[in-house]
Amino acid sequence: MQAIILSIGDELVLGQTIDTNSAWLSAALARLGIGTRYHQTVADDRGAIAQSTRRALGHPGLLIISGGLGPTEDDLTRQALADALSAPLVLDASSVDRIAGFFQRRGRPMPHRNRVQAMHPQGTTMIANGCGTAPGIRATVDGTELYVVPGVPSEMRAMFEASILPDLGTTGASRHVILTTKINTFGLGESDVAERLGDLMARDRNPTVGTTVADAVVSVRVRSEGPAAEQAGADLEGTVDAVSRLLGPVVYGRDDTTLQQALVQFLRVNTMTVATAESCTGGLVGEMITEVPGSSAVYQGGWVTYTDAMKVAQLGISKTALALHGAVSQPVARQMAAAAREKTNADIGVALTGIAGPGGGTSDKPVGTVWVGLSWERGEDGGAGASETDAFLLSLGGDRATVRQRAARAALQIVRFHAMGVPIDALPSAVRQPMPSDVTA
Ligand code: AMP
Ligand code: MG
Repeated sequence: MQAIILSIGDELVLGQTIDTNSAWLSAALARLGIGTRYHQTVADDRGAIAQSTRRALGHPGLLIISGGLGPTEDDLTRQALADALSAPLVLDASSVDRIAGFFQRRGRPMPHRNRVQAMHPQGTTMIANGCGTAPGIRATVDGTELYVVPGVPSEMRAMFEASILPDLGTTGASRHVILTTKINTFGLGESDVAERLGDLMARDRNPTVGTTVADAVVSVRVRSEGPAAEQAGADLEGTVDAVSRLLGPVVYGRDDTTLQQALVQFLRVNTMTVATAESCTGGLVGEMITEVPGSSAVYQGGWVTYTDAMKVAQLGISKTALALHGAVSQPVARQMAAAAREKTNADIGVALTGIAGPGGGTSDKPVGTVWVGLSWERGEDGGAGASETDAFLLSLGGDRATVRQRAARAALQIVRFHAMGVPIDALPSAVRQPMPSDVTA
């Protein structure tokens, strides 16, 4: 069985409210093994709603319509449904009583206009609403199971769980399962990911594999379908393993796991600590790390040194390096990272200095140029406490917010790679450059 979901409301087609109902319903249906054929969003327009309803009824299966069941002039779903079914609206006496009771419990008389909410097309039945006034509507029409539910997300969800879910459990659809998961990566572009995955992304494969990008995080979606839950689960995990093997360390977690959570988790388990020195990101890296509960075990602290003077005063950056190479430079990034580490005694120091834009770019340092400095304690042959450093050049696209976000994530991934002992060359976006010849260690 496949589902069609219609969302009704001017606010949705105007872009004032995002249609979260369709997403929620499809995810809930997928857990029952019911796929969705399409979503459609329709304005509060009686003719348009009727037309979309007729079209959807042309596909036998499940049709869920949310919204437009309120008592006001712009709530037209019930009238449009009556048009689509060529049935007159009739009053349901027990719904009138229930709606009147809803107002009575709040010590108010029922406004006359709420009476319309007790009306439904002849041949359909009403679904009681446990948390609001608008009852839902239920019908079977030529092989389609039809449900109309309120648009208010909490009422929609409650009605789905109380009155639709039990019906679907008995249709036999629940024997079929759809399992989904996401594998999150940072550091490769979407097309690089696709290229590495190759045939795994073939459309006729089960489980299917697709990608989505948000804030430079490329997530690989895996969807496994089948008649038996155990087999579908095994197939899903098999594909997840294959994807993880092909993508390697850029993979940092599943489902809702963030890069900062993955980093903090790894550092905690390995009892490692980190400190930050930030310029262009203004503390974003520290903010991302400390967003994770338990980060106090791994984050020593950090500095936001925006001006050259602050870099000198707080971190002891050499005035010569600033004068010769500028604040956005490899030597300064390395010195900042070393200072952050040495001043806090952390295992790893990370620093960011760059040009977030929109102004301030030059031909040799365009907007989006960011240096990430990294530092760690030198091995036995070095002096106790002395730092080893490295630095990576990022050339980021996008507006100011995007550059800052991407730079911060890149820094987190660089620290994660370093902590895991993975060569940072595995991150194609982080480029090493030769040190300027006049800089001495
Ligand atoms: P309605 O049932 O059409 O009166 O909708 C009541 C309220 O619920 C609207 O004003 C929206 O704020 C919200 N709403 C309706 N439909 C949706 C939807 N598809 N997704 C998210 N919110 C919705
Ligand atoms: Mg509405």
